[in-house]
Amino acid sequence: MKFIFGPVASRRFGTSLGIDLSPDTKQCNFDCLYCELAPAQTISSYTKVYTPQEIVEELEVSLKEHPNTEVITLTANGEPSLYPHLDELIKKIDLIKNDKQTLILTNSATLSNEKTYQSLLNLDQVKLSLDAVSTEVFRKIDRPHEDIDLSRLVQSVISFSKEYTGRLFIEVLFVKELNDTKEEIQAINTVLEKVNCERIDLGTIDRPPAYQIEGISYERLFEISHQFNPALPIHIASRKSVTSKPSSYTQEEIINTLDKRPLTRVDIELLFDEESIKLFDYLLKKDILSSKNISNMEFFIPSSNQQRKRKK
Ligand code: SF4
Repeated sequence: MKFIFGPVASRRFGTSLGIDLSPDTKQCNFDCLYCELAPAQTISSYTKVYTPQEIVEELEVSLKEHPNTEVITLTANGEPSLYPHLDELIKKIDLIKNDKQTLILTNSATLSNEKTYQSLLNLDQVKLSLDAVSTEVFRKIDRPHEDIDLSRLVQSVISFSKEYTGRLFIEVLFVKELNDTKEEIQAINTVLEKVNCERIDLGTIDRPPAYQIEGISYERLFEISHQFNPALPIHIASRKSVTSKPSSYTQEEIINTLDKRPLTRVDIELLFDEESIKLFDYLLKKDILSSKNISNMEFFIPSSNQQRKRKK
């Protein structure tokens, strides 16, 4: 499988089959400090593009193998909404998804592009990230492409939230001593008071980050949550609340899934059935998979991926 990975138990969205719209290389208009991918030059459009047809053909096979899937998530090694055939892809997925929901995880920047804005209106669920609303903090934490205008981004998030009829989620990810100041939290709160959404997830780093930065503690996250307007649908994203039905994974699926998304032992035990856990342990023993320690949490990734990321 080139594009499809999982299923993964998303902390917030349920059992999800991921579609990686940029499987070969990172293509993103941000270069966030906390990105779980290696640092890369920002771009404003994809240079490496696959057709919707080849993506949907793989999805059809995976949906048959994993009937427990609840959500089909558009994601990427980078920013999925930069994919130029998004509209056509969403239409093709709609034809085969049956009762599954479509979801995109986006950094929100392309919402100021009318064509992308219209495409996103056609999804069942949208998760928009909004880590900062003041230019200085935004530039430091998300390291956006020079074409991106923060005030247009913020305005587009507000407008989209009023027009969109699907399930809208906002995510704010906190990085220690960057966007966790009283001033920035107040500024984000002021914007969020104008946004119509189902849930606002406050989180922090829980994957190995691209740069040397630190997340904040769960207690601090809890403290921050009290600085927002109590009328807002604030939720603290925590791994412990995940529930999932274990699935069967082939060797290729295990490697492909961990390549896209490093997982902890807890994640693996939630996701994999007994036979798949045995296969995972075997791959670990054979050094096909290896572990990486970050902020006292052990993540598993393919050994080849660790080498690839170091070279970038
Ligand atoms: S975290 Fe997402 S938006 Fe930020 S650089 Fe990585 S892929 Fe891009």
